Amino acid sequence: MSIEASEQFVVGIDVGGTGLKGAVVTLQGHVHLQEHRPTHRERGPKAVIESILNFASDLIKQAGNEHVAAAGVAIPGLVDEEAGIALKSVNLGWQDVPLHKLLEEHLGLPVAIGHDVRTAGFAEGLLGAARGSENYLFLTLGTGIGAVMVLRGATYVGVNGVGGEFGHIMLRPHDGPLCACGARGCIEALASASAVAQRYRTLAQITEEIGARDVAELANAGNSIARQVWDDAIEALGLGLANYVTLLDPERVVIGGGMADAGQMLFEPLKEQLSKFVRFQPVPALLAAQLGNNAGYLGATLKAWVAAGIPQTELSWSQEAFSTAEL
Ligand SMILES: [Zn+2]
Repeated sequence: MSIEASEQFVVGIDVGGTGLKGAVVTLQGHVHLQEHRPTHRERGPKAVIESILNFASDLIKQAGNEHVAAAGVAIPGLVDEEAGIALKSVNLGWQDVPLHKLLEEHLGLPVAIGHDVRTAGFAEGLLGAARGSENYLFLTLGTGIGAVMVLRGATYVGVNGVGGEFGHIMLRPHDGPLCACGARGCIEALASASAVAQRYRTLAQITEEIGARDVAELANAGNSIARQVWDDAIEALGLGLANYVTLLDPERVVIGGGMADAGQMLFEPLKEQLSKFVRFQPVPALLAAQLGNNAGYLGATLKAWVAAGIPQTELSWSQEAFSTAEL
């Protein structure tokens, strides 16, 4: 690949439990390079940090040092984005890692650190299903529930950075299933992809692996247990969303993750439920996330461009520019 002398890039990395996804992207959103590496979490938190630092400097080297303007990294767990500190990730075993400082020292470039779901939500806002909207809720319904509230164009996380946890809205605090947070009957315990799969396995007394989409398909095929499990999950989501609409009146709700793999089997009944619960407010558009597994690293590159001094409004890339093979 030849690089024009004036060409500028940023590096974006999405840190997952098992893999790191990295890309080198131009100001117009063209993906110049893509790479996937293991996270090495089995070697401990220090090795994970080293993997990230080395991956970033290798990508920069490949793009040519003088061509790279900034780097962005999306990380899981609790994150203080402003201070650039990875507060805690049970998955990666780290605590209070000053990742922003470490990267800046290692790379000698402007750096942006983002929480993985917020970074993905940021990408959906600029490039995906929430493009053009300033007031939306982004949800990933997967192993847990990740949520990003965007109000007037900015992500809102509250006074302590823990706001917007849609998944931990309690719907059945007395008789609901136990949630990872310790409470009972949170939306996450009722309607995440893994909660749906787990409940079906328990009620159907099966042990084999099954996905949320499989439960939806079984329900559609007339399986009464699957029907019950799926309908209950949709009702919980509809109720949670109705309360969100009552409080914040969003324009759009963008949904990704394992539950969204069920497509119209999720969106149609969910819209119906939401319309039933909402009394006088307009029902927001319910949309499938568009960027899939690429949202994290694309968001990291967008944040890197912002760190390099480019205004967010100039980062409206065309679909053709960034649509590349899934990493
Ligand atoms: Zn909870």
